[in-house]
Amino acid sequence: MIAVAVDGPAGAGKSTVARAAAKELGFVYVDTGALYRAIGLHVLRRGIDPASAEQVVSQLSGIQLSLAFCQGEQQVLLCGEDVSGGIRTPEVSMAASKVSAIPQVRAFLFDLQRDLARTQSVIMDGRDIGTVVLPNAQVKVFLTASDQVRARRRFDELRQKGETVEYEQVLKDIQQRDYQDSHREIAPLVPAPDAVLLDTSNDTPQQAVDRLVALVREKMRRLEEEAQ
Ligand code: C5P
Repeated sequence: MIAVAVDGPAGAGKSTVARAAAKELGFVYVDTGALYRAIGLHVLRRGIDPASAEQVVSQLSGIQLSLAFCQGEQQVLLCGEDVSGGIRTPEVSMAASKVSAIPQVRAFLFDLQRDLARTQSVIMDGRDIGTVVLPNAQVKVFLTASDQVRARRRFDELRQKGETVEYEQVLKDIQQRDYQDSHREIAPLVPAPDAVLLDTSNDTPQQAVDRLVALVREKMRRLEEEAQ
C-alpha cells in the first residue's frame, strides 16, 4: 500500500493534480480540506463565529462527518447530507481556515483521515498530511505556485461556477488564508522536511500531474527493488 501526501497553500492546484494523478495510478483521492469546510459550513449555518473556539467545540459532538467514494469521486456527508457542492464558497473557505486553527477540530478529524490510508493506496491532499496525518507517507509533495497564479486559478474556477467575484478580493482572501494557515500554532502549513517541492506556476495541469505521477512511480519502483 502506498500513501502520497500532497500539501500546499490554497489554489496551488492540489485537488486538480492529486485527483488526476490518483486516477492514473488507481489510488483513492482524499481531499481533507472538504472536512474542515464541512465543519465551517455547519457552524456558519448555526450563526456561530468560526473563530470562537469555545462555540465551535461545543458543536463537535453533534456533528457526524464521513466521506463516501463513488466512482472515484469523493462526497462529504455532514449528518447524512451530501454537502460536497455547498462547501465550495468563499465564505466557507474562510470559515474552514478559521475552524482549522482550533486543536479540538483537528483532533476530531484526525482518525477519520488516517483510517482512510490504512486499507487502500491514497493520494491525500491538505495542509498537514506529510507532517502530521501521514508522517510515514512514502511520497510527500509540497505543491505551490505564486500568489498571483493561485489567485487567478481560483478566480477562474469561481467565475466558471457562476460566482460573482473580483480578482483582487480572491487574491486578498488567498493571502489571508495562507497567513492564517501558516501561522497557526497547531499543524501549521509548512513543507515536511522530506517533501519534494513542486512549483506549478509555469506548468499546465497535465504537466503537474505528470510530475507527480513520475515521482510516485519512481518511488514504487525503488520500493519493489528494495523488497527483492
Ligand atoms: O484545501 P482547502 O482549500 O479546501 O482547505 C480549506 C481550509 O481547510 C484551508 O484553508 C485550511 O485552513 C484547512 N485545512 C487544514 N488542514 C488540512 C486541509 C485543510 O487546516 N489538511
